[in-house]
Amino acid sequence: MRDGAKVVSRSRSSTGEQPNESPAGSKPAAGLYLVSTPIGNLDDISLRAIKLLRGADLIACEDTRVTGKLLSLLGIGGVPLASYHEHNAERARPALLARLRQGAAVALVSDAGTPLLSDPGYRLVAACLAEGLAVTSLPGASAALTALQLSGLPCDRFLFAGFLPAKEGPRRNTLAGLATVPASLVFYESPRRLAESLAEMSAVLGPRQAAVARELTKLYEEVRRGGLAELAAHYAEAGPPKGEVVVVVGPPAEAPPASPETVDEQLRRALAELSPRDAATTVAAATGLPRRQVYARAVALAKGRAE
Ligand code: SAM
Repeated sequence: MRDGAKVVSRSRSSTGEQPNESPAGSKPAAGLYLVSTPIGNLDDISLRAIKLLRGADLIACEDTRVTGKLLSLLGIGGVPLASYHEHNAERARPALLARLRQGAAVALVSDAGTPLLSDPGYRLVAACLAEGLAVTSLPGASAALTALQLSGLPCDRFLFAGFLPAKEGPRRNTLAGLATVPASLVFYESPRRLAESLAEMSAVLGPRQAAVARELTKLYEEVRRGGLAELAAHYAEAGPPKGEVVVVVGPPAEAPPASPETVDEQLRRALAELSPRDAATTVAAATGLPRRQVYARAVALAKGRAE
């Protein structure tokens, strides 16, 4: 990895330059490497990730036992591990930054999947970028994207919402804030809270199609699809599922286009207080109709010429 104050990130260039974290089997260059690991199936580790983990000076991970087990399954030994997780991130970050400044190649992994998705990794990345330390990513498995792919729901636009708050009030508020987002929603959820969360999603987000993806890439992988209320009833009856789950909720139904009568009604109400110009601006914003078209109608209504 190239170093230097101006190098804040690097990737394969448009000219096809290869990343050189391990040219001809040598040690990776200094920098922070965000390394994705499997979410269940060991074969999902990439060749690039194996090479990098083997050559890193230090591997920062959420749980040293989990990562230690992965490394031993991959036949990688002798690389020191440092724990970096939600509860020690503030304390542990200065030491990782110091190693990076000294020229170490530091790999960051999570317990499973893509680091930074629902872990404190982004703060380490932000700190590196602020200091001009090089950062790059070795992409791979992610439970969020795998669940989205298998959900059967629109993938062209989605919002990753991570874990919902554990307490009911904040959880409902978070859901209310997402209710009008015109995109599929992806949540990580604990199996124990699944039925309750699905029922709350149904109450706050309204009737929508959804999918519960469980044990992705593992032996008992399962995706259950249906309406939110139907899925809530299923898990209330069946009890918490075994393993890990991701919930994907489809986007809200598109609002039907406003009818001309509705636009006229809105315009008449607005014209009682506003000029045709301001009434048109207000109603165009509310209906999404072109302002020019609404303005022409507002002028006609104001002159009493509209039928
Ligand atoms: N960094 C990971 C990723 O790339 O998806 C996610 C880590 S997050 C702390 C852990 C959550 O991811 C779990 O509670 C679950 O919601 C989801 N998850 C992880 N592995 C999974 C799997 N194999 N099947 C279903 N969900 C999984």
